[in-house]
Amino acid sequence: MTATTTAESETIGFDGLGLRPELLAALASLGYEEPTPIQRESIPPLAAGRDLLGQAATGTGKTAAFALPILQRLEAGRAGRAPIALVLVPTRELAMQVSQALHRYGRDLGARVVPIYGGQPIGRQLQALDRGVDIVVATPGRALDHLSRGTLSFASLEIAVLDEADEMLDMGFAEDIEAILEKAPANRQTVLFSATMPPRIDQIARRHLREPVKIRIARASAVAGQAPLVRQSAYVVARAHKPAALGRVLDVEAPDSAIVFCRTRDEVDQLTETLNGRGYRAEALHGGMGQDARDKVMGRLRAGTADLLVATDVAARGLDIDHLTHVVNYDVPSAPESYVHRIGRVGRAGREGVAITLAEPREHRMLKTIERVTGQRITMEKVPTVADLRARRLELTRAALSEILVSGDALDQFRVVVETLTDEFDVMEVALAAVKLAHESATGTATDDEEIPEPAARPQRDRPAGTAPDQGGTGRGPAKRRNDADMTRLFVGLGRAAGVRPQDLVGAIAGETELRGRDIGAIEIADRFSLVEVPDQAAEDVIAALKGTTIKGRKPNVRRERVHPRHAG
Ligand code: AMP
Repeated sequence: MTATTTAESETIGFDGLGLRPELLAALASLGYEEPTPIQRESIPPLAAGRDLLGQAATGTGKTAAFALPILQRLEAGRAGRAPIALVLVPTRELAMQVSQALHRYGRDLGARVVPIYGGQPIGRQLQALDRGVDIVVATPGRALDHLSRGTLSFASLEIAVLDEADEMLDMGFAEDIEAILEKAPANRQTVLFSATMPPRIDQIARRHLREPVKIRIARASAVAGQAPLVRQSAYVVARAHKPAALGRVLDVEAPDSAIVFCRTRDEVDQLTETLNGRGYRAEALHGGMGQDARDKVMGRLRAGTADLLVATDVAARGLDIDHLTHVVNYDVPSAPESYVHRIGRVGRAGREGVAITLAEPREHRMLKTIERVTGQRITMEKVPTVADLRARRLELTRAALSEILVSGDALDQFRVVVETLTDEFDVMEVALAAVKLAHESATGTATDDEEIPEPAARPQRDRPAGTAPDQGGTGRGPAKRRNDADMTRLFVGLGRAAGVRPQDLVGAIAGETELRGRDIGAIEIADRFSLVEVPDQAAEDVIAALKGTTIKGRKPNVRRERVHPRHAG
């Protein structure tokens, strides 16, 4: 591997966005090196008080895109009781994630952030609101609840954010959102982020946003067909299992030289340590390192004493590294352009390259966007199992032995060992023992022989007030269910309020597809939507069939259930 550094290209950093010092300090301490595209485009107009309509999925950095401008206008150590900002989100998981993000970014400002969502005892929320709050992050049902009780006040409200608006609509929150926005002061600033822009979102935007700046992050560009020689695959894995999953993927891929991209400096440092612990020769490179340290790293790469470079985008920008075989995205890049730029580092000069992306379940959508924009398939792979890993290690041992046998190395000095042993043992047994010894000394006794679980598709949804879901009354208890891993949960936008019962869903599915009643898994009916499990391979058929039919006289909105597992980042 040869490598050189060139001057880093000029791009706008967080300080170029006019953010206040407290925020810059928080971002630096989190190891964020530069704004993502959505942040670069959203923060200036939002800080200037404009309304904004943004199309962006999870993984683009959209949370900070609205969180930083909110905090920008917050008076440090403010004492007022009523919030200046309200962020509406579809699920309780997202409410917690967004609150945590606001908390982290706003720590030097003493920002008081309170998440309120259904399912949590209301008493605790009442106390928190009563003590005084700067920013409320809420699911619509619970926000409305507090508004009507008079425990949430809009007296000081300056900014309202609708996050993942399409999903809030899908979950039946349209009326709640309308009611909330009606109560908000007319001169407030309004921000709407949505992964998709169906007409219903447009209507809300037209009614509630004033001359919004429009931002669309995944704009199709002319990048299609640029990197045909790159094999692209992705692994969906829960955050907690990412280091282990990466180790395993690297073990199986056995790259000659790879660059692993991380989002933040901290992530670079931690991952480098983990990989070194697994026996890789990994080197960290990020913008926090001085030129001397960077030069040393590049020197070790050039000398071949390191085989993995773990870097942030910023640090890798000026690098020209030859003979890279693998690019690994430890996180889904925040924009398709960044993905294309990263993977453009392999597959050069007619050589085949490999691009690997680790995605958290909630980032699945961003992968789809990248596929759409690049016009290239990203194959979804399963994280290698313990059995795959063992097979791969044995293959490496076999290859190493075979190399010795064909290379004609002098083996005579070992003959006496074999001959004395064959007095007592069969030659095959002697060979097996020798292989065991060679194998263990090459690979070590396997340290991580635990399976990495596939991410569970079972989010704890917050539900509109009073709509706890029923288990289907069709005798489908958990005992009868198939292996969860084989089943996909579908979201059907009709529920109890539309008179839907489990047998209606079973009837519609069995009537319109090849599935029989017993192929269908658990059914949950809530007030305004239902969830139904069907076998994975039939999911697309069922979605198409249900979309083309009516249930209780109404056309349902049907899709795979989206997942928001708790995010530990
Ligand atoms: P989001 O799309 O808001 O869910 O953000 C996705 C992830 O990116 C979160 O883990 C953030 O902490 C992280 N993130 C957001 N902005 C940046 C940035 N400018 N640099 C590095 N990481 C970021």
